[in-house]
Amino acid sequence: MTYVITQPCIDVKDKSCVEVCPVDCIHHDEDDDRMLYIDPDECIDCGACEPACPVTAIFTEDDVPDNWKEYTALNAQWYKDKGRHPVYAGGARIPLPAYGPASPPVTLPVAARTATPAPPPLLPALTPVAGK
Ligand code: SF4
Ligand code: SF4
Repeated sequence: MTYVITQPCIDVKDKSCVEVCPVDCIHHDEDDDRMLYIDPDECIDCGACEPACPVTAIFTEDDVPDNWKEYTALNAQWYKDKGRHPVYAGGARIPLPAYGPASPPVTLPVAARTATPAPPPLLPALTPVAGK
């Protein structure tokens, strides 16, 4: 198990967790990242960071709220493959709010998925002008 940093850290980044972590396993790039990440391979599950966070962003892996579950992988990926981390995708920084609470999936009705686009409106019929 590991501890995981989730959405409330975004743009807070006060680093209280870093100060109390005994194994220095919480990191970020100051100029690039809008939140911090816990290295799951280094975290010793001591729990010291959880109460230190002023915005309740840190949870044990098992207790991450359902709508923030993706942050578990997001924390790990930052350490394993930063080049493909969503925040670094394609070399461009992607705004992190895109990784906020997951929206419910949108499923269009079959008719909407198969419908062909409506043709452009027809031009109004020309009316001959009397006397010309
Ligand atoms: S649980 Fe302990 S070891 Fe793991 S990130 Fe928090 S302070 Fe560091
Ligand atoms: S203490 Fe909380 S808000 Fe501050 S950097 Fe750590 S996870 Fe982010």
